[in-house]
Amino acid sequence: CGIVGYVGDKQAAPILLDGLKRLEYRGYDSAGIAIHNCCCTNLIKTEGKIKVLEEKLGGAYPEGHVGIGHTRWATHGRPSNVNAHPHTDCTGDFIVVHNGIIENYQELKEWLQSEGHVFKSETDTEVVPHMIEHFYDGDLFETMKKTISKLEGSFALGVISRREPGTIVAARKSSPLIAGLGEGENFIASDIPAILQHTRKVYILEDGEMVKITKDKVEVTDFEGNPVAKSIFEVKWDA
Ligand code: GLU
Repeated sequence: CGIVGYVGDKQAAPILLDGLKRLEYRGYDSAGIAIHNCCCTNLIKTEGKIKVLEEKLGGAYPEGHVGIGHTRWATHGRPSNVNAHPHTDCTGDFIVVHNGIIENYQELKEWLQSEGHVFKSETDTEVVPHMIEHFYDGDLFETMKKTISKLEGSFALGVISRREPGTIVAARKSSPLIAGLGEGENFIASDIPAILQHTRKVYILEDGEMVKITKDKVEVTDFEGNPVAKSIFEVKWDA
C-alpha cells in the first residue's frame, strides 16, 4: 500500500524506513526494504508493522545508497513473511515492490513456471521480477517496458537490480506514484509525505508513465519510452 525508493549519497535504509512510517496512515499488514551495497542486496521483510521490521534489523541498518521499501495491503496471498514485498526472481538479481493488482498473474505464472521459474510466494506481484529476469537483455529500463506491456490490472512498480546498482525504474498505471527531485539524490514514492522531509520538488506521474532515476537524473517517459516533458510540482504544505 506504500512505496518509497532512494538513490543518492546518503544511507538509504533510514530514509526508506522513515518514509514508510509516514505512509502508515494508509494501513498495511507487512513491510520490507531492499538495499544495494556494491554488488550485494540486503532484503529484509516481515509480516506486521514497521516496528517489527526494525526489531528484525536489531538497530543495525543494512548499508547502501540505493534501495526500495514497501508496506503491503494484501490482495493476493495472506499476510505472511514470504508474501511481504520486496519480491525477487530466482537469481535474486531483480527486486520489485508493487502496489495494486496484476489481474492476469495466473496465466503469466503458469507460463513462467513452464519456463522453469520457481515461485516462493502466493502473490500476484511475484510474476514481475520473474518476467524481468526472463526478458533482461542488459538494460533494466528496456526490460521494464517489455514487462509492463504484458501486465493487465493496476500497478505502481519500483524495481532495482544489482546488475545496474545505481538505478531505480518505476512505472504507474491506476495506482499513485511520484518522483522526488533532490540535489545529488532522487526518490520515488506512492505519496508525497513519504519524501517531504527531503524535497519539495516532485513530478506527479500520470497513468501510462514510467521513470528512470539515478542520483543525478530523473527521466520520465511513456510506456513506449518516448520522453514526457513534466513540470515540477512544488509542494507548499507540510505533512
Ligand atoms: N497485490 C499485491 C499483493 O497482494 C500488492 C498489494 C499492495 O498494494 O500492497 O501483494
